[in-house]
This record gives sequence, C-alpha cells and structure tokens, in this order.
Amino acid sequence: MTDLETFRAETRAWLEANCPAEMREPMRDESDACWGGRNPEYKNDAQKLWMERMAERGWTVPDWPKEYGGGGLSPAETKILKQEMARIGARNPLMSFGISMLGPALLKYGNEAQKKRFLTEIARGEIRWCQGYSEPGAGSDLAGLQTSAEDKGDHFLVNGQKVWTSYADKADWIFCLVRTSKESKHNGISFLLFDMASPGVSTKPILLISGYSPFCETFFDDVQVPKDQLVGELNKGWDVAKYLLGHEREMISGMGLGHGSVTLGDKAKNALADDPLLRADVARFDVDALAFKAMSERFIDELKAGRAHPAQPSMMKYAGTELNKRRHELVMAAGGSAALEWESEASRGGKDAREWLRTKANSIEGGTSEVQLNIVAKRILGLPGA
Ligand SMILES: Cc1cc2nc3c(=O)[nH]c(=O)nc-3n(C[C@H](O)[C@H](O)[C@H](O)COP(=O)(O)OP(=O)(O)OC[C@H]3O[C@@H](n4cnc5c(N)ncnc54)[C@H](O)[C@@H]3O)c2cc1C
Repeated sequence: MTDLETFRAETRAWLEANCPAEMREPMRDESDACWGGRNPEYKNDAQKLWMERMAERGWTVPDWPKEYGGGGLSPAETKILKQEMARIGARNPLMSFGISMLGPALLKYGNEAQKKRFLTEIARGEIRWCQGYSEPGAGSDLAGLQTSAEDKGDHFLVNGQKVWTSYADKADWIFCLVRTSKESKHNGISFLLFDMASPGVSTKPILLISGYSPFCETFFDDVQVPKDQLVGELNKGWDVAKYLLGHEREMISGMGLGHGSVTLGDKAKNALADDPLLRADVARFDVDALAFKAMSERFIDELKAGRAHPAQPSMMKYAGTELNKRRHELVMAAGGSAALEWESEASRGGKDAREWLRTKANSIEGGTSEVQLNIVAKRILGLPGA
C-alpha cells in the first residue's frame, strides 16, 4: 500500500470507531451545528464527544500545523479525511469563523504569540469569533469604514458602530477593522482582535426575513484594546482584511454544493412527474451543480497548492451562491403553495421556506454578487473601465 492508501485505511477505521451514530445524521438546521466557545451549548453528549475527539486529534483544523493545535496533514491527506467523513455522513465537528476566516489570516499575518494563543484556542473550539467589518456607511465600500482606534500609548481606544455582525451576541471575541489614520482611505485601516466582554461593547440583534435573528448591530464606546492585539502592521490592516475575505468567500461558495446531495433529481422526481418545464429546469440545475462541484474541487486543489488567482474566490462565491439560490427556488417550485407554509409541524416550522429566504442573504454576505462580478471583471478578465 502507498502512504496515502495506509492513511485512508487508518482514517476510515478511526472514524468508524470514534464518530458517534448521532453525528452521522444529516444536520436538520443551523441549531444542529456545534460552535464551541467560552460557554459552549451542546445539543447532546454525542455532539460534545465528537468535537472533543476531533479536536484532540487536531482534525477540527486538519491542515493547520500541529504546534497550533492542527492535524499537520498534507493537502492530499486533508482531502482523504474529508472524503472519508463524507462516506459515513459525518458532520462537521466544529463550525467556526475562527477556522474558516480568522485562522488563515493569523497563519499569514499573526505574530508567534498571537498564533500560539488564538489558533490553539480556535482549534480546540474554546473561543467563538465574530467579524466586525461592515458599518452603516461601509458595506460594499468597506474601506470607507469610520470606526476609530485612537492611539493612547499602551492601548487603542475604539469608538464606532458595526452592523450585520453575525452572532455578535454569542461571540467571545471580535476581529475588527478600525480606522487608525485619516490620511489615506486604504492605508489608514488596522486589524484588531478584542474580547466582546470588554467594557464599552454592546450588541443589538436584527431580525432577518427568514424569521431568525443571527446578526446584530454592534456598538463600541471607549473600548480599550491592548496594543499587542493588533494583527499585522499599523495602517496595513487592509491587506489582512482582503486576505481574510478571500477565505470567507471560499467558505460561502461551498453553499453551491448544497447539504448532502448536490443534485435535486431525487427530491424533484415524484413532485414533477407531470410538469415537463419544471423537470427541464431541474435537469439543467443538476448539470450545473455537478459542473460546480468539479470546478470547486479543482479550485480547492489550486488554492491549497498556492496556484489560485487571488480573485478566484470571488468567482467561486458568485457561482456558488447564485446556484444555491436556484436550488432553493426549485425546491419551492416543486413544493407548490404548500412549500410557503411557515409554522406547522408538517412543514417542520417552515423549513423549506425559511431556507429559501436565507439563500437570498448568501449573495450579499461576504460581499454582494455585483461586487464579486466587478472584481472578476477587473482582476481576472482585465476589462476596461471595470
Ligand atoms: C446574512 C448576512 C451576514 C452578514 N454577516 C456579516 C458579519 O458577520 N460581519 C460583517 O462585517 N458584515 C456582515 N454582513 C454584511 C455584508 O458584508 C454586507 O451586507 C455586504 O458587504 C453589502 O454591504 P451593504 O449591505 O452595506 O450594501 P451596499 O454596499 O449598500 O449595497 C447595496 C446594493 O448596491 C450594490 N452595489 C454597491 N456598490 C456597487 C458597485 N460598486 N457596483 C455595483 N453594485 C454595487 C450592491 O451589490 C447592493 O445590491 C452580513 C450580511 C448578511 C446578509
């Protein structure tokens, strides 16, 4: 056997022995996800056990270095682990903005002390993060942000407001873009980390059209942030911000893969027997979804090998989120008027309708589709005037 074949056999055996049966069931909704944090909420013992066993092995972040709590796996081994988890339907043991967004940025821009402390806590699921980027006047034009961090000698004094901060009311810490100079729009931004329990931080939840309230307005009123919590150089936070956004967009593009089955074929087969137009739409969708899956695999391989174009996550995010919107439009079309039902037990609390509405936000969060198209036009296609 080659080394990789041995690794696959050992991984398969370990997963069989250690992944609890409950953690092999598809997630029913967002509440089935394990987010960890200072005050973790576990749905059941199996969820806790699964997270702890995977963290112990470094497999919550399999491709991070071992010294920061990772598994130290190569890209090929990481891929095998993912395949073997998918084979038994194993759930992701830990959902975390620390893993999908902040971690990669810290690996590239963090100093040794920051890596040792924060990456290890992230890998063990001990710290839950939120993202303080958008402001009331700075969404697509993110570099226009005004939240200020004033140099007070041994600390920064942060004042301002963020908006759409996902899970800010549940997060332990925030990674936050602040203005440290007014001299230059892009070269006056810095990247700070701070505790959401710091005096002067407050949050106010905002309700979404799906009926859920996963995000907040976040206010900073004379928040003191120690200087050693600056990531990268002062006034060079835009580089960190952009790098992190690439990883965020890569993560969101995964929406295009759907949960579990990529295609709609089976779900739609019975409902659509007598509707040729809808059947054609579903067939078209299935072909596009399989093409997206292939494109996504190639993209991840290129990314891990350091060969992806820096703007490629924008292309993937656009394709994946628009595809996911089509997926849920078709689920609603196949369900007819019954799919709009919102509260009954039969509709599992309006699961289809709420998920359909949630997909509308996929093409806004992490940068809108229009903005991704602008980036693709300018940086990949080199179009004039873009
Ligand atoms: C579910 C969800 C979760 C989010 N979570 C977070 C979070 O955790 N942290 C965080 O910081 N932010 C978060 N956001 C905010 C998100 O990043 C912003 O909503 C997004 O960047 C768009 O900014 P905006 O809402 O201010 O819209 P605007 O920038 O005001 O855009 C309004 C419209 O104008 C269009 N537009 C703007 N500029 C251009 C242009 N140059 N060319 C073409 N069209 C343009 C946009 O595409 C959009 O349709 C979240 C958003 C959602 C929906």
